[in-house]
Amino acid sequence: MYIKHTLNKRLSTFKGMCFPYKKKSSTTFRYEAVVGVGGNIGDVKRRFNHLFYELKTYARVELLETSLILKNPPFGFKTQDDFFNSIIVLKTNMQAHTFLNYLLRVEKKFGRRRSFANAPRTLDLDIIFFDSKIINTKKLTVPHPFWSKRESVVIPLSSLNR
Ligand code: ADP
Ligand code: MG
Repeated sequence: MYIKHTLNKRLSTFKGMCFPYKKKSSTTFRYEAVVGVGGNIGDVKRRFNHLFYELKTYARVELLETSLILKNPPFGFKTQDDFFNSIIVLKTNMQAHTFLNYLLRVEKKFGRRRSFANAPRTLDLDIIFFDSKIINTKKLTVPHPFWSKRESVVIPLSSLNR
């Protein structure tokens, strides 16, 4: 069950049981990761709930906080369904590349197939920030290069109550 709030002709937000969410205390995992979550195939909000429990029950991450969900039009390849986007904040002891590999495995588990750039997807998990680290390798760019230009990131991020 989600409560919908229309922002304008293009954008609406959804609030439910798991989005937004905030945990009261936190453990001693070393790194704080801010993860962008997106999707536009099938029942995305339901999939986000499954993702929430996937992360919550995985011992190597601690789920701290989630944002509301933003429904917004696609960019790049425009003739596809609107996207649902959210932000998840968690802690982990994994190093950034190990954490990325974990996220790619979770995408796969949730049915992700890679076809072309900006293609429709069941679940996209991007590392927006990883602590205050700056990473520029072939596999990983952190902070995420376009985060500040995308309403799909900025609006959910600014809704976090921190
Ligand atoms: P996009 O998210 O740009 O639509 P994909 O989800 O298909 O693209 O990701 C393609 C590759 O992007 C991943 O396999 C990963 O190696 C790389 N990548 C680089 N920086 C990041 C990041 N900050 N978060 C997630 N993936 C990243
Ligand atoms: Mg991605």
